[in-house]
Amino acid sequence: MTCKTLITGFPRIGEHRELKKALESYWTGKSSIEDLQKTASELKKKHWLYQKNRGINFISCNDFSFYDNMLDTAVMLNAIPERFKKIDDNIERYFAMARGNDLAVAMEMTKWFNTNYHYIVPELSENLQFNLDSSKIISEYNEAKTIGIDPKINIIGPLTFLELSKDVHGKDCYSYFNRVLPVYEQLIKELSALNSNVYLQIEEPIFVKDPTVEQLELLKKAYTALSAISDKVKIIVSTYFEHSNEATSILANTSVWGIALDFVSGRKNIEALKLLNGKKLIAGVVDGRNIWINDIQRTINLLNSISNDVPREDIIISTSCSLLHVPYSIESEKESDIKKWLSFAGEKINEVVLIAKVFQGEPLSVMENDHIDNNKFRIQEKKTSSIINNSAVQDLLRTIVKLERDEVYEDRILVQKERLDLPILPTTTIGSFPQTKEIRKLRRDLKKGIISKEQYENGIKRYIDDCVAFQEEIGLDVLVHGEPERNDMVEYFGEMLNGFHFTSNGWVQSYGSRCVKPPVLYGDISRPEPMTIKWISYAQSKTNKTMKGMLTGPVTLLNWSFVRDDIPRSEVSRQIAVVISNEIADLQAAGIKIIQVDEPAFKEAYPIRKENISEYERWAVENFKLAVSTAKEETQIHTHMCYSEFNDIIHTIEAMDADVITIETARSGNELLKIFKEIGYKNEIGPGIYDIHSPRVPSVEELTDQISCLIEVLPIKQLWINPDCGLKTRRWEEVKPALKNMVKAVKNIRESGDN
Ligand code: GLN
Ligand code: ZN
Repeated sequence: MTCKTLITGFPRIGEHRELKKALESYWTGKSSIEDLQKTASELKKKHWLYQKNRGINFISCNDFSFYDNMLDTAVMLNAIPERFKKIDDNIERYFAMARGNDLAVAMEMTKWFNTNYHYIVPELSENLQFNLDSSKIISEYNEAKTIGIDPKINIIGPLTFLELSKDVHGKDCYSYFNRVLPVYEQLIKELSALNSNVYLQIEEPIFVKDPTVEQLELLKKAYTALSAISDKVKIIVSTYFEHSNEATSILANTSVWGIALDFVSGRKNIEALKLLNGKKLIAGVVDGRNIWINDIQRTINLLNSISNDVPREDIIISTSCSLLHVPYSIESEKESDIKKWLSFAGEKINEVVLIAKVFQGEPLSVMENDHIDNNKFRIQEKKTSSIINNSAVQDLLRTIVKLERDEVYEDRILVQKERLDLPILPTTTIGSFPQTKEIRKLRRDLKKGIISKEQYENGIKRYIDDCVAFQEEIGLDVLVHGEPERNDMVEYFGEMLNGFHFTSNGWVQSYGSRCVKPPVLYGDISRPEPMTIKWISYAQSKTNKTMKGMLTGPVTLLNWSFVRDDIPRSEVSRQIAVVISNEIADLQAAGIKIIQVDEPAFKEAYPIRKENISEYERWAVENFKLAVSTAKEETQIHTHMCYSEFNDIIHTIEAMDADVITIETARSGNELLKIFKEIGYKNEIGPGIYDIHSPRVPSVEELTDQISCLIEVLPIKQLWINPDCGLKTRRWEEVKPALKNMVKAVKNIRESGDN
């Protein structure tokens, strides 16, 4: 008997980002829709055969998408927002929903759970007519069939769809349950009319998020109904990123065929297995989100313990989630010290197949036996390797005694105020200025060796000179150097730290055609030399005003990388905190009076399950405080976070104890500030007063009103005035007038005397 293997989804962007290129070429009118469709079907075919040839039994169709699977689901349900209905052409309408067009703004986009993948947020409203459009599903299904693959079909389930949608009038989206479920029922009826049995994998990851009683009731209702429709449609319900024990106990009592669980990020899933009631278990044992080789022996042990509760023949081996979150294959990676420990999508597929064979005691080929021996060796080697382990770093970490700043905020702020001598409502920006074509080219040319280091540095100096001159000219109070030397706030630091690796082709889809290449944080972190002093000092030398130094914080550097899994994340973050603290000491010694430690990823790094939150908050705060522990009383520490929902985390923000926090509020008015007032938050706050995500230039009047609103909520002496995020994605034509208006608005308020 062969044990079966299943893959939830494959990286659709392609080995060489073919889909990205085809999409962008189509969008800019350089190629036709036929060209795009041709690339898409070639990619699908390649990816299906790739899985088939390596021995995967359950291969997905409908995991492909021209943009996003949530958007596909909205289309499947005919949930087309009113403003797009006038567009007749299906493809044109689809891309307009994703990206907007001249007449209609795009639908909103947000992060998929705690990954860096973004989905399109479906917009629901009373007047929608939900009905089934199964064309994409059926055509992908048939496409696979024509090349001899009998695919399973993947869709996003009704409850995850509703939970992650928004109603245009703010209604509870579950109120659409009774209108949406029949569409899924219709789909199953349609699939049951196909010639053979069909496997339908319905993804319901929402059930890893502390489900409510009401959600669980709806789950029961939905899957009791869906699983009763046809014996020919075998339903697999899958969750990932955490355990879903509440849902498992319900699904076990429906007629679904299988349940797919994540045993990598959801170890606790093991607790509900006794309930499975003869269902197939799709055991996600190979990490679908991280890029390290699997410890095969450990995985076999895990599977053996799973088989205490589930008969072996009912266990199907899989990855913990879709492989969408990892790059394509290590085959196109350049040689490096760590390549032998990496496993991308292609390699993970091999791991799944091999693990299945070993688990079932099937005879192995010589090559497979070699692979297993090699795996043992690699895993062992990784534990002790001096590439990964640096005893100096570990010793240092053990001996650290200074964990936080010495003085309390009330004392620090007095000293800082005196030293900085700033007016009320001090104005500043978040750090970056527009990343122009020239500045990108400059960095690229240096990398390629087209220009000398000196030429590069002269270019950077010119950019900084211009930034400083502009900021002085318009009268900002605290200046920044503009971050021209940084392409990315994680990559820049990663490249200068030991312990980070940069892949050559490790692209992962972030949204639509956008891909990111996350750094690989593989080893103990150390800082060979200062990272920011040169440019910040240069910028400071060009002005008598205060120049703010810019660093990326220990949670963000962690969260936007692929992180080693041999030590806890808290410890990795602690190592980063130490190097940041050294950098702060150096900046301070160089005369920098204000240092900002950016933590835009602080909130998205929160654990999915409530039970894990306090532990995260504890170490994240500890590490932030450790990172800034070297700051003297007179050095002002700022932090920046890019979102506008602080209610749940306000006490954690308070515990971080930054002297100043700048936040994104522009889009939510001053609503969010109320929570700061409510809890009696003492430290200073810079609520972003305009939205930098839009090219629109806010007027002086508008900004003056906005500031007046802020003053109504918080004491004026507690407030800073700034845009709501960095300006790197904007153009100078927008940035210049917007900042001018911002400074004018502040001047109006200062002069009006009602403060
Ligand atoms: N200092 C960074 C910038 O201005 C902060 C970016 C961010 O918040 N994501 O670009
Ligand atoms: Zn931001």
